[in-house]
Amino acid sequence: MATAIVIGGGIVGLSSAYYLRQSGWDVIVADKSDFNDNCSYGNAGYVCPSHFVPLASPGIIKQGLRWMLNPESPFYIKPRLDWGLIRWGLQFMRSATPEHLANSAVPLRDIALLSKQLYEEWTDLPGFDFSYDRKGLLEYFQTPEKEAAAHHHAEEAAHLGLEARVLSAEEVQAMEPHVRLNIRGALYFGCDAHLHPNRVMQQMRQHLQHLGVQLVPHAEVTSFEKQGRRITGVKAGAQKLGADLVVIATGSWSRSLAKEAGADLPLVGGRGYSMTFDSRHLKLVHPAVLMEGRVALTPFGDSLTRLGGTMEITNLDAPPRMNRVMGIIKAARAYYPEADIPVPELKDVWYGYRPCSADGMPFIGRVRGFDNCIIATGHAMVGMSLGAGTGKLVSELANGESTSVDLRPYDVHRFG
Ligand SMILES: Cc1cc2nc3c(=O)[nH]c(=O)nc-3n(C[C@H](O)[C@H](O)[C@H](O)COP(=O)(O)OP(=O)(O)OC[C@H]3O[C@@H](n4cnc5c(N)ncnc54)[C@H](O)[C@@H]3O)c2cc1C
Repeated sequence: MATAIVIGGGIVGLSSAYYLRQSGWDVIVADKSDFNDNCSYGNAGYVCPSHFVPLASPGIIKQGLRWMLNPESPFYIKPRLDWGLIRWGLQFMRSATPEHLANSAVPLRDIALLSKQLYEEWTDLPGFDFSYDRKGLLEYFQTPEKEAAAHHHAEEAAHLGLEARVLSAEEVQAMEPHVRLNIRGALYFGCDAHLHPNRVMQQMRQHLQHLGVQLVPHAEVTSFEKQGRRITGVKAGAQKLGADLVVIATGSWSRSLAKEAGADLPLVGGRGYSMTFDSRHLKLVHPAVLMEGRVALTPFGDSLTRLGGTMEITNLDAPPRMNRVMGIIKAARAYYPEADIPVPELKDVWYGYRPCSADGMPFIGRVRGFDNCIIATGHAMVGMSLGAGTGKLVSELANGESTSVDLRPYDVHRFG
């Protein structure tokens, strides 16, 4: 049997491993960490076809510059002399155009719908119970500006065939009977679902082991062994793993390995934070995005609520910043004025790095210079949502099949 080495044990790596194994490959997943934490664990768990607007979109630059002046704001770039970051910033600005927005909506919708269908199939796998729920998503707004944006977004969603409608504050309050809301209304996306990311990750790891996939922890891949147009093995510390296929799914750390494989990916880590607490502090029925505050909340069953947000472009080893966590808490308190939202201790704050490409679109595809290397990364704010679909696409590529969605928008060489 041919051996596939998947580098990276986030949702993209694990789902790639799953679909490769399903199609007959011998699969090894190598991770530099211990598989117990990465960006795919503490996220908000939205499976969201509604998120068809890429991070690089018109308006974000002006808004981002305003936010930069506030230490508790949802967006922050730690200024530093890093050519990769400067180049990413320039390409991001160049990508944030109305044309890019228009061209990205269908590709993002399609991969999200594929992924949603696959997560639904996962709910039937043995040992899987990850609080998957198709209740939809509420995007609350407090200001007339965001209300107007919500109407516009609902129309765009309707053009894409996605269920979306603007609701009054009273209608939303009736949907959330356990907490008083301070909102003007909300945009409701009936097309969305959510899941408990920690659970799906843990359950997929167990399932992969049951299927005979080898998970190798503490194995940081630093280089490849190459022969002509093939990568024949990967070096992970003292270990050398022979490979017939290599999948680079290393999230925010993907730049150096991609370069080693001949692909130049403009990619940075966008750190976000989350806190998970007992729902007696704040009990929700539906996941919610706080539009002005840029905060995400998710109920996991009846007992837990997760609160997360911020986008902090910083070094991948920078210490966490509590002022950004306070920004999330204060934003949430403004929407739920009577809820008892606790300030967590630093030890209870989770953080992870979203792999953010310069145009907000994932990189999914084969590299030009080698016949047996696939890259799958750069999913930014929607990696959980697109994770299962990305894994399926990786296995279709590996097996030379026609892919479930058109992969041209995700070309790994689109920046040269
Ligand atoms: C606060 C927050 C909320 C979010 N909410 C949502 C949401 O609701 N819905 C959604 O769709 N997305 C959400 N996201 C984004 C989502 O979490 C990410 O896009 C996704 O987890 C990225 O998955 P990944 O597999 O690409 O990377 P990761 O999960 O980061 O996995 C990459 C793995 O590669 C390993 N690795 C790196 N380099 C090497 C190497 N050289 N050798 C071996 N291993 C290596 C790392 O150790 C890591 O385990 C959120 C993110 C944050 C921070």
